[in-house]
Amino acid sequence: MIDLHCHILPGIDDGANNLEDSIHMANVAVSSGITHILCTPHHNNGTYRNPKYDVIQHVAALQKELDNREIPLTLFEGQEVRITGELLQDIDQDNILFADIDDQYLLIEFPSNDVPAFTEKLFFELLSHEITPIIVHPERNSVFIDDPNKIIPFLEMGVLSQMTAPSYVGTFGKKIQKTAKIMLEHNLVHMVASDAHNIERRSFYMKEAYELMEKEFGYEKVESFKQVAKEIINGDTVKVPEPIGVKKNRFSLFK
Ligand code: FE
Repeated sequence: MIDLHCHILPGIDDGANNLEDSIHMANVAVSSGITHILCTPHHNNGTYRNPKYDVIQHVAALQKELDNREIPLTLFEGQEVRITGELLQDIDQDNILFADIDDQYLLIEFPSNDVPAFTEKLFFELLSHEITPIIVHPERNSVFIDDPNKIIPFLEMGVLSQMTAPSYVGTFGKKIQKTAKIMLEHNLVHMVASDAHNIERRSFYMKEAYELMEKEFGYEKVESFKQVAKEIINGDTVKVPEPIGVKKNRFSLFK
């Protein structure tokens, strides 16, 4: 299993506090069937700045620790980039890490309660530079919780979106779980990742999410999600199903 979103690097954001935590997370990941992790510390979220070359060094150091302990886990360098007006500049200054080696897929985080007005223009700019934004955990954003259809214009531009496994399993509560399920049902999310921060409160739940997805949506959906994760990490072209509009009564129920 590939995990495309994880705060496993020690001491650089609100994920693993120290090396011991990171090793603990790595062991839990491996025992749940995860083989590859894209390390995605927060960048530019108002609290943390983790520019490209710092992350590269941290990943190399942690990979060495894993290898020394013979923990069979491969790490890749990435970032969870908060959407800001300075993003293009940050890319030009070579501060940004993508999900793939060819710099095509970029994990983008919105503030929890907002979809900034400049988003569409910025996404248009990124797409015109052949960069595909991946919106992370839309099911946890209050704008999309209130109206999941608000993500559709972005998806129609060619933007992708990534669900957090624990959301779907229910760790963040019923409302977020329900939104995750609606988004899955309507092709509003295209892949799943852990966004694990630790093993106590914010663990992986990837295996559990895929199991639930298989039960609710069938084996093919699970396989297609796993395939998307593989394509992204390899920098290949991703083909995803068309988004389906959510009928109002499906989400007005829990307002
Ligand atoms: Fe995250």
